[in-house]
Amino acid sequence: MTAKIIDGRAVAKEVRDAVAADVAAMVAEGKNPPGLATVLVGENPASEVYVSMKHKACEKAGIKSIGHVLPATATQEEVEKMVEDLNEDPEVHGILVQLPLPDGLDDESVLRTISIEKDVDGFHPLNIGRLAQKGREPMFVPATPDGVLYLLKNAGVVLEGADAVVLGRSFIVGMPAALLLIKENATVTICHSRTKNLKEKCAEADVLIAAVGRAEMVKGDWIKPGAAVIDVGTNRVDDPSVERGYRLTGDVDYKEALEVAGYLTPVPGGVGPMTIAMLLRNTVRAAKLAYGN
Ligand code: NDP
Repeated sequence: MTAKIIDGRAVAKEVRDAVAADVAAMVAEGKNPPGLATVLVGENPASEVYVSMKHKACEKAGIKSIGHVLPATATQEEVEKMVEDLNEDPEVHGILVQLPLPDGLDDESVLRTISIEKDVDGFHPLNIGRLAQKGREPMFVPATPDGVLYLLKNAGVVLEGADAVVLGRSFIVGMPAALLLIKENATVTICHSRTKNLKEKCAEADVLIAAVGRAEMVKGDWIKPGAAVIDVGTNRVDDPSVERGYRLTGDVDYKEALEVAGYLTPVPGGVGPMTIAMLLRNTVRAAKLAYGN
């Protein structure tokens, strides 16, 4: 079997185009464009890159983005005051506090300060709590797992009744991905660093989500023939044959998986592009909610 490749770049472009069309329609009606405020605390080079990518994507979609930067020495009160001010600002529809925050700051308390109507990252404890409750819906879902589910559904993968395995239980990816799959009526096993017989558990999955951050850990014989495999992992592996000295690889051994899986996402070009696209979508939704439609 050769897996069907799920092209995350193409799907993300469709989402971004739809977002841009929604924004254009909003502006044509005389409304302000959706506004996304980012809050970056301290000097974390990776976070600076992520925030800058988000601003560029906003600009392309017609979303107004406003970057706020606080020094690493900022106090809990200063960070929360900034979020409170953004909660009150009618031109800001979405607030994104870039994680991780510097040591010493309580991220849960900061995330709790964001108004849930503006919680476009979906990390407010109330939104996460609603995700975990049957019959309740969060206002927003974290972008990466939202993108994972979007890719699965867009490819036509049947989730109802499927046996799904999620590798990883982080607050950002694994856990919300598992909760979203449960909402789709899949039967979900969540695996982590203490899980026994990992390979055997994975090999029973109709849907396998890998979000562990271990390069090419999932081998071909971990995959049930025909399974849908979504590789969230983004790992740097030394590669002297390329100019920059490393290449990006996922948590799944791509070549081996290609021979066994039914569907497979590449790295790069799979889940990665979806993350920003889903954030933009959430920001437009937040603006629509604020405008009462
Ligand atoms: P974390 O490090 O927060 O979580 C990793 C999870 O994997 C933990 O639950 C951990 O278990 C589990 N784990 C680690 N090693 C093993 C192992 N050997 N066997 C089984 N389970 C293991 O990572 P994230 O969830 O933030 O990210 C996961 C991957 O996804 C990374 O490669 C990251 O770069 C990528 N990522 C990609 C994004 C995108 O947009 N494409 C966005 C976010 C992340 P335990 O809980 O027991 O420690």
